[in-house]
Amino acid sequence: MSLFDVYPLFDVTPVKADGVFLYDAVGKEYLDFYGGHAVISIGHSHPVYVKALTDQLQKIGFYSNAVQNPIQSKLADRLEQLSGCKDYDLFMCSSGAEANENALKLASFHTNKATVIAFNNSFHGRTSACVAATDNPKIIAPLNAQQQVRFLPLGNLESVEATLKAEPICAIIIECIQGVGGLDESTTDFYKGLETLCNKYSTVLIADEVQSGFGRTGDFFAFQKHGLNPHIISMAKGMGNGFPVGGILINPSIKASYGLLGTTFGGNHLASTATLAVLDVLESEKLMQNVNEMSAYFIDKVKTIPQLKRLKGRGLMLGLEFDFPVASLRKKLLFDHSLFTGSSKNPNLIRILPPLTIQREHIDTFFNALEQEL
Ligand code: PLP
Repeated sequence: MSLFDVYPLFDVTPVKADGVFLYDAVGKEYLDFYGGHAVISIGHSHPVYVKALTDQLQKIGFYSNAVQNPIQSKLADRLEQLSGCKDYDLFMCSSGAEANENALKLASFHTNKATVIAFNNSFHGRTSACVAATDNPKIIAPLNAQQQVRFLPLGNLESVEATLKAEPICAIIIECIQGVGGLDESTTDFYKGLETLCNKYSTVLIADEVQSGFGRTGDFFAFQKHGLNPHIISMAKGMGNGFPVGGILINPSIKASYGLLGTTFGGNHLASTATLAVLDVLESEKLMQNVNEMSAYFIDKVKTIPQLKRLKGRGLMLGLEFDFPVASLRKKLLFDHSLFTGSSKNPNLIRILPPLTIQREHIDTFFNALEQEL
C-alpha cells in the first residue's frame, strides 16, 4: 500500500532524537530550528518526559472519559498555576484543529449564532469550521465552504465593528502572532479593542495559541503580552512535546452540559502525563526565561545579517524575511549544514521554531551557516 501522497518530503530519515538534535540511521546529526513545526517544546526525548510516559504506560495508558482520571485533573491544576490563567475550565482533545473546532462549536452553542470573524492570512487547522476560518482557499473543500466566515484585515477595528453591527457573529478567532501566515501581529490597542467589541456584541473571543502557547513566545500564552482575557484559549503543539495533545481553556461564563463536547482519546492517561511532564520541565528548567534570553541573543545576532529585510515574531517564534524566495536557502541549510528550519505562506520568510531548550552555541551554529550561504 502506498502512502497518500500529500506531503512533499525531504530525503532525511530521523531515527533518533535528543535535546535539540535529530539523528539519521548512519548517525548524521541535524540541529533542529523547526521543532517539527513548533511541537518540540522541552527538547526531544527529554529524560523526565520519557520516564513519565514509560512509567505511566506500565500502569495504564488509556481508558475513556467515562471514568475518573486524576491525572487530567492534576494537569488542569498545574496548567492554571503555570499559565496564570485563573478560573478557566479545561477540555482536552488531541490536535490543534480539534481544539479550534471545539472552540468554534462552543462559541456557536453559547451565543446561538453561526458566523465567524477570522483575519487575513490566518491558519486555524484543516478540519470543518477551522479550515473554513483559515485564509487559504486551496485547502477549503466545497463541504467546508458552507461555513460562514468573514475574513477581515488584521489591525482594522472599524471593519470588525462594521461586521459585528451588520450580522450576528458567534466568535472572533485570532492568532496573536500568526504562524503559518508568516509571523504578522497587530497592536495591543487592536487586540484590546477586539475584546471590548466581543463583550459589546456578545461574541466569543477565541485566542488560537496552538502554535504560540506553552512558553514559545517567552510568555505562557502570546496574548498575555497584551493583557487580554479571551473567552476561549486553544492549545496543542508544544503542549505534548510530540505526543498528540490539544485542549481548550474555557471562561466559566460559558456553561458546560453533559454531551456538549466529547472525545474518545482526549486527555487520556498518556496524553495527560505527557503534558504534565512538559509543565514540570518548563518550570524546573525555567524555559520561558531561556526563551527570552535566547530570543534576545538571536535578535542581536540578526544585526550581523545585512541581507535581512525584516525580523518578525517574538520569543522563539521568529521569522527572517528576505527580499527573495528562501526555498533554496532552506534546502542548503538542511543538506549542506544539517539545519532544519521552517517555511510559511510567505515564500521569502524562514521560520525559526527551535525547542525552547536551545542554547547560544546552537544559535551561533545557525548564524555561521546562514552567513556562509548568504
Ligand atoms: N492553529 C494554529 C495557529 C496552527 O499553527 C496550527 C498548525 O500549524 C493549527 C491550528 C492546527 O493544528 P493541528 O495541525 O494540530 O491540527
